[in-house]
Amino acid sequence: MTDTSHPLLPPTVPVLRLPGGADGPALQVGGVDSTDGVVVSPATGALERLLRGLDGRRTWRAVVADAVRDGHDPTAVDAVLRALVDTGLLVDLEAADLLATDAGPAASARAAAELPTATGGARWQARRRATVVVDGATRVGVPLAAVLAASGVGRVHVRDTGPVAAGDAVVGGLDAADEGRPRGLAAADAVRRASPLTDLRPPAGPADLVVLTRAWASTDPRVADLQRDGVAHLVATVRGETGVVGPLVVPGRTGCLRCAELLRRDADPRWPVLSAQLATDARPAGATVTCLLTALTAAVQVLGYVDGGGAPVTLGATLELRPPQFTPRSRRWGAHPECRCRPPRPPGG
Ligand SMILES: [Zn+2]
Repeated sequence: MTDTSHPLLPPTVPVLRLPGGADGPALQVGGVDSTDGVVVSPATGALERLLRGLDGRRTWRAVVADAVRDGHDPTAVDAVLRALVDTGLLVDLEAADLLATDAGPAASARAAAELPTATGGARWQARRRATVVVDGATRVGVPLAAVLAASGVGRVHVRDTGPVAAGDAVVGGLDAADEGRPRGLAAADAVRRASPLTDLRPPAGPADLVVLTRAWASTDPRVADLQRDGVAHLVATVRGETGVVGPLVVPGRTGCLRCAELLRRDADPRWPVLSAQLATDARPAGATVTCLLTALTAAVQVLGYVDGGGAPVTLGATLELRPPQFTPRSRRWGAHPECRCRPPRPPGG
């Protein structure tokens, strides 16, 4: 961090009082779970206010200048800030990150909880600019959309038609009172409950990412359109009792969903006949824990992709989550030589 960094000590980092040693009582910052903490002494109300005042809105230089005005020693303040940086407790907030949040105290309070997971580079700003379409107001799709909106994704649209069935209700998604309502409207209400200010309109142009949450999306004719238009898409669904997240298809970079179908056909010639029947099954599937774990696993992949912080693990691979332990099992899906999508590089390359 530099003089122009904006240090943020996330409000969730505990600042605790330790009983007196040689220098009197001390403050312990963090260090209550598996991460390191920092012990600072002597513990004073002024020091505690200084630490709690690290809200990312002032530069490092301004924090030190204000601290000097309050009677602190600038060298000591600098040393405390550097110790917090070394332990990873202090986050450097970009000034533009704060501008890229919704206005008002309620929105600021919500953003304060989300910002620390998406700072560095322009990740938060990328997330705020992103448009994600969730295709299917399912027991995975609606909680996923709500999590994405609450995490700061700028525009989240859930696409679906037809009425809500009783079995569609799930924690964080559609609820029992939604039965019989249009799926798209009920899904929008569920997302709004989680994040009142998120833009829920359908995108005017192509989305940054489409998440396919119906059971057998790989044979859905809309997938061919996404592939042709170069729109990235991710599968996130529950088949039987197994949560499936991935593959994340980036046209031109990874194999496509048709490649995966052809690879399955190679392994089992009966697969196309089975697949065609599976594609027509639209019944709600999955226990609540399976659906929510699948939605959260997918959310991590979506945020990784839209933030641009690195290659998500489902790029050209699936994660399978199976009860009772739900330990993720990874399967890789390469390109198939017969498919016309012809990625120039292997997945992840
Ligand atoms: Zn392909």
